Amino acid sequence: MRVYVVHYSEIALKGKNRSYFEKKLVRNIKNKIKDIETPEIRREYGRIVIESDNPEIRRILEKTPGIKYSALAIMTDLEMDEIVRAAIDVSPNSGTFRVETKRGFKEFPLNSVEVNRIVGEEILKRKSLRVDLKNPEKTIYIEISNRNAYVYSERIDGIGGLPVGVSGRVICLLSGGIDSPVSAFMAMKRGAEVVAVHFFNSTIHSPAVRRKIHDIAKRLSEFHRIKLYMVPFREIQLEIIRCIPSDHRMVVYRRSMMRMASMIAEKEKAEGIFTGDNLGQVASQTLANMSVIYSASKHPVFAPLIGLDKEEIVELAKRIGTYEISIQPYEDCCSLLVSKHPVTNASLEDVERMEEMCSLKEDRAVGNAEVFEYG
Ligand code: ATP
Ligand code: MG
Repeated sequence: MRVYVVHYSEIALKGKNRSYFEKKLVRNIKNKIKDIETPEIRREYGRIVIESDNPEIRRILEKTPGIKYSALAIMTDLEMDEIVRAAIDVSPNSGTFRVETKRGFKEFPLNSVEVNRIVGEEILKRKSLRVDLKNPEKTIYIEISNRNAYVYSERIDGIGGLPVGVSGRVICLLSGGIDSPVSAFMAMKRGAEVVAVHFFNSTIHSPAVRRKIHDIAKRLSEFHRIKLYMVPFREIQLEIIRCIPSDHRMVVYRRSMMRMASMIAEKEKAEGIFTGDNLGQVASQTLANMSVIYSASKHPVFAPLIGLDKEEIVELAKRIGTYEISIQPYEDCCSLLVSKHPVTNASLEDVERMEEMCSLKEDRAVGNAEVFEYG
């Protein structure tokens, strides 16, 4: 019988939390495959076993945070002749190989070196292969747990990280650009549940742009389900244009977004705000401006891409599948009526004084947000 065996990343290192982490990962996998099928899934001696060989499950495991690698394996009883038969089954017909046994279950009568030797010899009797311990073309993996052995020769890479949920919940400010979806992915990869928030101006945003945000959210939900808030920004934007000089508008737009993100964080019991900011990329991303912008939030603000180069971000965006969506044309609400020479070293005092002249209906905008769920 073929089953998926799943190996997690750092979970094993987390001491007492281990069982909590494993349960989260099992629950996340169950949730993601429930529309395909509902096979038995169990934790077994440091791995997760899924009693199914459905190829659609493979694609899900490749995109589930917390999984280091998985494999479609032949499951056998703890009998050497069965293990040998399975190993012959998964071994290639030519080239070089080695056998690598992991024996978690120490009461198994043979140790891993002995299993390697016996299985290797049996394979050599039947196939014209050569053993190469250093640099084999194929490795035959044998895992021995307390109830079964698992035999396979192909590892399916995962994305690593931690199971979503073990790090709490964060708000991710999602624009239509390349960076912010990558930042949201980073949050999920490190185990945080994501509530995405997008601010849109209904008069300058075409329906295509709204669809684009939904497409990005949907793509991100392949990693883990996410919630999306669409917050109307038009009235606030008009008020900012009325009361703030053009060279300070970008900073005030962003501060207003931060205050609203913080309100949503409170509502959603999220503990931080993630942005796609990147040091020095655009005028609003000087250290001085980011500090004035972030101070509008009551919650800590994190920018996981802060030290990456654009090419590095683009590469990540391509890998997670958001790049193609992000490069579609996009009307950025924040470019509306901002100065060609925005301040690069805004002072909090000045900005706060300017904001006193405005009446920003941020509560109302958050109250009018549309909320969607993906995944
Ligand atoms: P991105 O590619 O994510 O748009 P960027 O490098 O182009 O990032 P900006 O457009 O200046 O930088 O935006 C900085 C960050 O502010 C974004 O990464 C995003 O987190 C947030 N942000 C900007 N515009 C919006 C918006 N309309 N709604 C929600 N968040 C936004
Ligand atoms: Mg942008």
